[in-house]
Amino acid sequence: MKIARVAIDVPLNRLFDYYADDVDADDIGRLVEVPFRSKTTIGVIVDISQQSDVPRARLKSIVRVLRDAPALTSADLHLMKFAAEYYHFALGPTIMGAIPALLRRGAFFNSERVAFSLSAAGAAIAIEDLPSRASVQRRLLGLLRASDCVDGEAMGNIAPTARLVLKEFERRGWINSVRRSPQAPHAPCDQRAAPAVVLTAEQSAAAATIRGALHRFAPFILFGVTGSGKTEVYLNIIDSALCAGRQTLILVPEIALTPQLENTVRNRFPDARLVTLHSALNETERFANWRAAHCGEARIVLGTRLAAFASMPDLGLIIVDEEHDASFKQSDGLRYSARDLAVVRARQHHIPIVLGSATPSLETYYNAISGRYQLLTLRQRINGSFPHIDCINTRDERLPDGLSPRLLGKMALCLERGEQSLIFINRRGFAPVVLCRACGWLSGCHRCSAHLVLHQAERRMRCHHCGHESPIPAACPHCGAQELGPLGQGTQRIEAALREHFPGARILRIDRDSTRRKPAWPAMRREIENRAVDILVGTQILAKGHDFPHLSLVGIVNADSLLYNSDVRASERLYALLTQVAGRAGRAQTAGEVLIQTDFPNHPLYRALKEQDFAEYARTLLEERRQGGFPPYVHQALLRAEATKLDTALAYLVRAARIGRDLSTHVTIYDPVPAAMPRLAGRERAQLLVQSRSRTRLQAFLKGWNARLSSKAWRRARWSLDVDPLEF
Ligand code: ADP
Ligand code: ZN
Ligand code: ZN
Repeated sequence: MKIARVAIDVPLNRLFDYYADDVDADDIGRLVEVPFRSKTTIGVIVDISQQSDVPRARLKSIVRVLRDAPALTSADLHLMKFAAEYYHFALGPTIMGAIPALLRRGAFFNSERVAFSLSAAGAAIAIEDLPSRASVQRRLLGLLRASDCVDGEAMGNIAPTARLVLKEFERRGWINSVRRSPQAPHAPCDQRAAPAVVLTAEQSAAAATIRGALHRFAPFILFGVTGSGKTEVYLNIIDSALCAGRQTLILVPEIALTPQLENTVRNRFPDARLVTLHSALNETERFANWRAAHCGEARIVLGTRLAAFASMPDLGLIIVDEEHDASFKQSDGLRYSARDLAVVRARQHHIPIVLGSATPSLETYYNAISGRYQLLTLRQRINGSFPHIDCINTRDERLPDGLSPRLLGKMALCLERGEQSLIFINRRGFAPVVLCRACGWLSGCHRCSAHLVLHQAERRMRCHHCGHESPIPAACPHCGAQELGPLGQGTQRIEAALREHFPGARILRIDRDSTRRKPAWPAMRREIENRAVDILVGTQILAKGHDFPHLSLVGIVNADSLLYNSDVRASERLYALLTQVAGRAGRAQTAGEVLIQTDFPNHPLYRALKEQDFAEYARTLLEERRQGGFPPYVHQALLRAEATKLDTALAYLVRAARIGRDLSTHVTIYDPVPAAMPRLAGRERAQLLVQSRSRTRLQAFLKGWNARLSSKAWRRARWSLDVDPLEF
């Protein structure tokens, strides 16, 4: 009797057994169709066994093994099993969530691996020439026009009739089919398009050290100020990995905002196929790219956190850029940290991993201090010098527009000299809240513990957390007075104020609202590069990884609102954010200046920022963390609960805490508290913190606790575990 143990996408912490006579050890990792709850579903074989705990009479047989579909490798499964165990999440959903949706639905093209390209005749056809109702034809032609060569399987998946349409295209002579060998050899390493620059001494020392570790597990921190040329170090070692016949995985926080890195890598290695993996891709693209990585055709994978699981048979190097960024942590479902999993993956594959940042997370930096990771430092800026950072004391000033005379004066000088300036404010919209001056009423979201943000141009109030919208009331809903007005500043209000101050200036606002349309942002960047813009107003979209060579002044407004915050990571994050914003200035010939408007110019954070000594500030923060008993000196997990009433969520956590205390005295279990934002989209949320100095002990506790909590059905509260939580 042969039993296949199958992982299925249901939130149960177990595998499912099926009779499977024609499977053997080679089928581990393959997709399989199995009967499940009166339907059939797709799962993954994770083990083969001779027996089962399920009574024979209840065991069913698999329907079929999907042998044409790409199978997960043992290395893939190894990583996914680790993630499921470490984050205490069921293995089925972990695996199914880590592979492309098309694969998990078993909906892929079952033919040989062919790809298509447009023939000369096909290239002459415009999409408009096709009947407007022939939507599949139009989409396929669009795909073919967008790329030199498109995977047949991927195209066959876009619609049920896609294969027929492709046949028809072939009959008309519009497309040529190319057979692709699944293991396309990687490009020879002497064919580079963009020439490599000559590395500085610091850069080449860093690159040489990493290169020396290409065939073993070695974690590095590439700690380099903004503009110190971290990217060139990445390129240099990617080159070595390519030459050694290995694939490289590059993880970045948000790909849509940082297309520069993608272009740079593509241009340097035009013959090594690069694919991206991120949530903005549609299912077909995602599958095609995943598949290219999986069969070894793509030699470089550049992606967001979800790419941490990309299947890569020849993986030889991992790079995590801006490793401190919080978006590497998934905030629902499998709450994994892509950065941490990347380190685990590097260890499993015996390969080096490079964590790059100008402001490493304290967890990472601590690993450098304690000698677990090797620290590689880039101290010099390549082009130009460091910007000069200073504070403008706004404590005793009344700033009706939120902009101080000194900042405005500096901006005027910039304008005169034909240089660009940037005002950074971390809030979009016109004003963060509407206030009634008669009774003090504030516009609040009825579904969240948050304010409704005023969007003046659209005459709407919007919740930035749940998306709820309403018109601006004519009178105060509370007292009826007609004294409603904006309170505080957002990007739109700053923009409006600047237009009044500098009527001749060309002003561009860059935030999630103004860049919502897909092509908007690249067009804006070109305008900035071409000096068609004098003043930029924007949120952190502007802070990330862009070079603005003509920018010489950065004004930072409203940073104080991020300064006093109950979150232990608030200072660390603000420092990182301001460093990134400040790093935009003076990238080229123009010497840069950064002015921070603040009521607290002597705050240690601003003082450290002025000195631009991250290492020193990190040591201070670490000492605070050590004394306060916070990570990285302890390891934490949160049990989160949500319900329609806060009391229900809290009551659940009280019971969970009691169960936990019965289990162990080796971890600290705190009392349940409401979440920092208790109400979100109509649900009330509470949490319970558990911590220990020992990760092993915490993990052992979580395992037992999770099992106990899972064994009881709780109808009224939904709960989840968050290991190494970043949001409280
Ligand atoms: P970081 O990522 O550390 O902020 P970048 O990698 O973007 O810095 O480098 C900043 C700029 O310096 C880029 O325009 C890059 O092309 C340039 N650069 C990097 N290294 C060198 C070098 N060795 N010689 C010349 N220019 C370089
Ligand atoms: Zn009122
Ligand atoms: Zn809301």
